[in-house]
Amino acid sequence: MSRPITAIIHSNALSYNLSVARQATPDREVFAVVKANAYGHGIERVFEAFQSADGFALLDIAEARRLRDLGWTGKILLLEGLFQADELEACSELQLDFTVHNDAQIEWLDAFSQRNASMSSSFHVFLKMNSGMNRLGFRPEAYRAAWHRLSTISCVESITHMTHFSDADGERLGESGVDYQVKTFESTIAGLTGTRSISNSAAILRYQTQLNSDYVRSGIMLYGSSPDYPAHTIQDWGLQPTMSLRSEIIAIQQIEAEQSVGYGSRFVAQHPMRIGVVACGYADGYQRTTQTGTPVLVDSQKTQILGRVSMDMLTVDLTHLPDVHIGSEVVLWGQSSQGVVLPVDEVAAGSGTVGYELMCGVTARVAFQIEQST
Ligand SMILES: *Cc1c(COP(=O)(O)O)cnc(C)c1O
Repeated sequence: MSRPITAIIHSNALSYNLSVARQATPDREVFAVVKANAYGHGIERVFEAFQSADGFALLDIAEARRLRDLGWTGKILLLEGLFQADELEACSELQLDFTVHNDAQIEWLDAFSQRNASMSSSFHVFLKMNSGMNRLGFRPEAYRAAWHRLSTISCVESITHMTHFSDADGERLGESGVDYQVKTFESTIAGLTGTRSISNSAAILRYQTQLNSDYVRSGIMLYGSSPDYPAHTIQDWGLQPTMSLRSEIIAIQQIEAEQSVGYGSRFVAQHPMRIGVVACGYADGYQRTTQTGTPVLVDSQKTQILGRVSMDMLTVDLTHLPDVHIGSEVVLWGQSSQGVVLPVDEVAAGSGTVGYELMCGVTARVAFQIEQST
């Protein structure tokens, strides 16, 4: 038998979470964000479950091509726009919508338009405003000029106003985390025609009724992680885990008080303990910095990891789980085969990170399986 670690992708949970996004934003178009290979799940593995999305959003043309190869004929949005001028050819061929966030991209469109004056090529462009996050986009002072310039380019068929929130998951300087950007965004686009795209998962869940966003861009919530954990858990938002990292107990050690476990003797027992060794380490994507005490499920029962995570193994406390044996199921995050849930957010907190990073970080040596029905 091969090494027992597996990442299970729960198709039903993916489509269920998409329906949560849809219910939170009725009458809006819900784009499923599938960048970073669908947050580590695999574009091909989530595609069926996201069939009812109004569009997909991602970063590069290679990923967009994979969606077209799967037969997707609907909308695809490139969230960072073009990196080079010649990508416009592929955008035209694959019918991709894209963000425009700098002057060079406008130049490229203008030149393309003049070269292809006879062609009826047309693009749906998402013009990105830097409303305060200071990553991508035109500053408010430059935004309207960019919009006017784009609207004179003949291959541009429509322009959607777009911005991205820095703090939709919490407060900012004592205010709601979105207010400062919404004010800037709304006042900057006042009087301009065009649809809008502003909300990410946190905004969809927390500000659903207040925001005016024709196209919402739901990412992390679709993958069963709460965008504003620990303020809200996935149970609070009614989301289900979509990826379960599962392995097995491959050894058991009985240790005495004062004995230590693992590299650096980072855990020292206070009393006799039973320790389980799990076939999962940082080379599988379980973070090395995860602290003793971080939850784990063994045979669907909650216990904790102990000591330092090594490359291929980690250790767990089995002292109160006498029935656990070699071959017992271990869930690092997600859900057990009995349906017990360990949210990825709780595990991420144990290494000071977020569910996004854990799910994106499962490594190539982990086998993936799709579970169709629960
Ligand atoms: C990643 C991304 C999203 C999705 O964010 P989540 O927090 O995962 O919902 C939305 N918009 C843009 C521009 C992004 O880059």
